Amino acid sequence: MPVTDPSVPVLDLGASSPDLTRQLCDIESVSGNERQIADAIETALSAFDHLEVVRDADAIVARTSGGKAQRVVVAGHIDTVPVNANLPTTTEHIDGEEHLVGRGTVDMKGGVAIALKLAAELTDPSLDVTWIFYDHEEVAAELNGLGRLARNRPDLMAGDFAILGEPSNSTVEGGCNGTARIDIHLSGLRAHSARSWMGENAIHAAAPVLAILAAYEPEQREVDGLVYREGLNAVGVSGGVAGNVIPDRATVSVNFRFAPDRSTEQAIQHLREVFVGFDFDITDLAGGARPGLDAPIAQNFVAAVGGTPAPKYGWTDVARFSELGIPAVNYGPGNPLRAHADDERVATSEIVACEQGLRAWLTAR
Ligand SMILES: [Zn+2]
Repeated sequence: MPVTDPSVPVLDLGASSPDLTRQLCDIESVSGNERQIADAIETALSAFDHLEVVRDADAIVARTSGGKAQRVVVAGHIDTVPVNANLPTTTEHIDGEEHLVGRGTVDMKGGVAIALKLAAELTDPSLDVTWIFYDHEEVAAELNGLGRLARNRPDLMAGDFAILGEPSNSTVEGGCNGTARIDIHLSGLRAHSARSWMGENAIHAAAPVLAILAAYEPEQREVDGLVYREGLNAVGVSGGVAGNVIPDRATVSVNFRFAPDRSTEQAIQHLREVFVGFDFDITDLAGGARPGLDAPIAQNFVAAVGGTPAPKYGWTDVARFSELGIPAVNYGPGNPLRAHADDERVATSEIVACEQGLRAWLTAR
């Protein structure tokens, strides 16, 4: 008899995927507090002989080694944004459909439940599978558990294709846009506002920058058959010294969401061309990910789960796989617009549909 630790919650991986989603949501796991849920996942998966289970801090990796020709990585984060009186979960009927309501139901314990259930159930999948459950996705990028795994154990991330179970309305969303943030600095000459002609107003100098932004027409760029819509926007303006001073400094913060066919260098080059003559600092820069849907393994996946692939606009961890040369897509239950919302909720039928799609692909011979 293995000794069971009473402080570790017991997960029933044989339960239905909506019920397993509920079990996972009711173990509160706001970023930084994943220890308990990671313990529960590690304990539950360790019961299965067909899985090799490895732990790196609060990330759990479980792998099959069936000697298959190809390996897929199925990954999901186990943390959530802060709870706001929306745990434990409740079950409600909304518009005649059963919904699971509460923190994590959309982002993304439904996707985690599906992965856990199939990890336990599929003792001999048609491809080898690496199941990854990781911590710290909802916080600063340097804490991200998948990023840490890529640094500590890149061998555990290896595969021919990766699926991230982030909410995508159960459709396949390929790749993601990249993101760049810059601070454009405007300078002037400080003076007393009673003698403003002695100074140069740095806030007024921001006007042409704002005019460029207002007139900018973002592109729609086709990448591997999907159309990515870009965006270039001011996300902050700061400046001013005091109510009687002509300011000598102002800053316009700009965020550029760029299609994944632009490299980070090309994105910055584009910004230099758009803001020619202006001085800026790069404050954040992350490349996008091509959808990778031209790979045969990805096409098989799309055919098995059905539906029409769509582009992913927000930056997600698929880009981490993309950096390792692994095509990656998002595929998970739930409407991403409900992620992080206080009324976060998912239709239980959607969790089941996603589970069936993934099972169909992983059992196809
Ligand atoms: Zn998420």
